[in-house]
Amino acid sequence: MKVKVVSRILEANDRIAEENRKRFKEAGVFVANLMGAPGAGKTTLLEETIKRLKPHLRIGVIEGDIVGQDDADRIGALDIPVVQINTGGACHLDANMINEVLDELPLKQLDMVIIENVGNLVCPAEFKVGEDIKLMVLSVAEGHDKPLKYPLMFQQSSGLVLNKIDLLPYVKVDINKMRSDSLALNPKLKVFEVSCSSGAGIDAWAQWLNGLRSQ
Ligand code: MG
Ligand code: ZN
Repeated sequence: MKVKVVSRILEANDRIAEENRKRFKEAGVFVANLMGAPGAGKTTLLEETIKRLKPHLRIGVIEGDIVGQDDADRIGALDIPVVQINTGGACHLDANMINEVLDELPLKQLDMVIIENVGNLVCPAEFKVGEDIKLMVLSVAEGHDKPLKYPLMFQQSSGLVLNKIDLLPYVKVDINKMRSDSLALNPKLKVFEVSCSSGAGIDAWAQWLNGLRSQ
């Protein structure tokens, strides 16, 4: 019985996600859904990515958090359109939440929208929101066991940022295992090793993201 209810919720979600997708397509906007655990560095990566891409394209951001608007304030400081969604307890964004804020963004004047999902390694991967691609951030401090423990997010993502590589001397983590387990789950995954503190790897990541838009 419970399984039926869940699948019906996901079906309804997918219908609204398809509606969102149409809206984005009509406006000519490429949409990425950025996922990762709390503290993985999603917002900081977003800041660094926007700084690099802003000269080349018009970006908007949708921020998802349970409460608060800290992240939207940080992104807004970069002088780009941003909307904050507060889920009020829900641990992921769903298609309906995105649908409700579409009018708050000047979609026709944008080339790319990045949606920062609620910090969580599990259910954000289960809910489509109308995106073209899913992206994932995993910091090296989270441990190399995460790909095999939370496979769905790795399987669903097109790009994986292994973040905070500047911490590698201080944490007992095998980044090669992180990479190889991720690729075993999803051979098409594009993996980037990045530090938002030193700036290492960010240019390559931002270029790749920009390139996807024109494909
Ligand atoms: Mg954040
Ligand atoms: Zn959730």
